[in-house]
Amino acid sequence: MSANQQTALIVGGGIYGLTTAWALARRGYKVTVLEAGPLPNPRSSSCDEHRIIRHAYGKLEGYARLMPAAFEAWDALWKDLGTSHLAPIGATYFLRHDDNWFDPTIRALEEMTVPHRLVPLDEAARRFPMIEMDGLQSVVETGGAGMLFPARILNDLVVHLAAVGVDLISSTHVDAIDPDRGLARVGSTDYQADRLVICTGAWIDRLVPEVKGKAVPSRQAVLYYAPPPELAQAWSQAPVIVTRGVEGGLYTMPPRYGMRFKVGDHRFSRAGDPDGDRIPTADDIERVRALFAEGFSTPERYRMLEAKACYYTVTDDEAFIVKPLGTKAHFVSACSGHGFKLAPLVASKLAEAIDGALSDAALTAYCAARPLEETPA
Ligand SMILES: Cc1cc2nc3c(=O)[nH]c(=O)nc-3n(C[C@H](O)[C@H](O)[C@H](O)COP(=O)(O)OP(=O)(O)OC[C@H]3O[C@@H](n4cnc5c(N)ncnc54)[C@H](O)[C@@H]3O)c2cc1C
Repeated sequence: MSANQQTALIVGGGIYGLTTAWALARRGYKVTVLEAGPLPNPRSSSCDEHRIIRHAYGKLEGYARLMPAAFEAWDALWKDLGTSHLAPIGATYFLRHDDNWFDPTIRALEEMTVPHRLVPLDEAARRFPMIEMDGLQSVVETGGAGMLFPARILNDLVVHLAAVGVDLISSTHVDAIDPDRGLARVGSTDYQADRLVICTGAWIDRLVPEVKGKAVPSRQAVLYYAPPPELAQAWSQAPVIVTRGVEGGLYTMPPRYGMRFKVGDHRFSRAGDPDGDRIPTADDIERVRALFAEGFSTPERYRMLEAKACYYTVTDDEAFIVKPLGTKAHFVSACSGHGFKLAPLVASKLAEAIDGALSDAALTAYCAARPLEETPA
């Protein structure tokens, strides 16, 4: 390490901690990551088989507009990792109910020239035998979307970061921080650096009390199923499928690229403790199963392989909170169930701000996908 090399300490080794380490190391920082669990940590929000990446964003049009840059940021990461963990299989939306998703989504897709089209219902019935056609109003097929593979990404990041000299310290729970000194305390040991970054996901309010009540932990369930053999061919070519009904949206990840078929919903429970047990209750499962049964043609033919309870934080407007803390720290709460796809982009902007190339106000506004003048300090 050279005498004037800047140092950074990152608390949390989920996708935000690891991509921030990547972005800061690229800028020449000597980086240390402190993670409470293993690296990667199966209890983190980030660690799963798949996450959706998409331009279609409903009423959150500001986030739709960040997506071209988000895809570019992933490309930069793939270049450094030497491989891509994105399957660009598209996403198709089956709408049974107009909940103000269609118009803003189509507007944003057109503005960004992302390919999309309305699929005639008779064609949809032929191509998607897994879908319940009764009550369907419209079907929208979109490009610029697909599946990211988080477990592979996190593993590959850990390997890459170690190779470029990032110090990865697992099983190390940070008990307290001093953001004015760039300090993280673990028991009686102090870790200190020029810059401190807190990326502790659903546990963010423990170290950053100002987000308490604003970024609220939310317990969410996902179900993994084995689809029936008569639908294997259709599922093997399927895009990400989202069904939107009166009760809310359900997303499904097809069983492709060596991953299992997964179903989850986008209704926030806004309940639970991320340190609590992760054993799914009958209610956790029923919430998701009921939406699946509404949108799919033969739900009884699917065998459940696993039900999983996991956590993320939720804000009222679903915007991320990325802000300075004291004089030497920043924190990241990229939440509300849509943070994974934006991680390399947000991390790169954060590194830019830490390096003094972007103002903190501009960083906060960018990550909240809002114009600077409309962003509260
Ligand atoms: C079921 C589900 C589905 C989702 N679907 C999508 C999707 O389709 N597309 C999308 O873009 N996003 C999606 N998301 C959201 C996305 O996964 C999250 O926004 C993202 O993973 C958050 O990453 P993070 O690094 O902030 O938090 P985490 O991954 O939770 O990482 C935080 C880490 O900090 C560690 N930590 C906490 N406290 C301390 C401490 N005191 N000391 C040391 N370490 C600590 C934790 O152990 C953890 O490893 C989904 C999330 C879930 C749960």
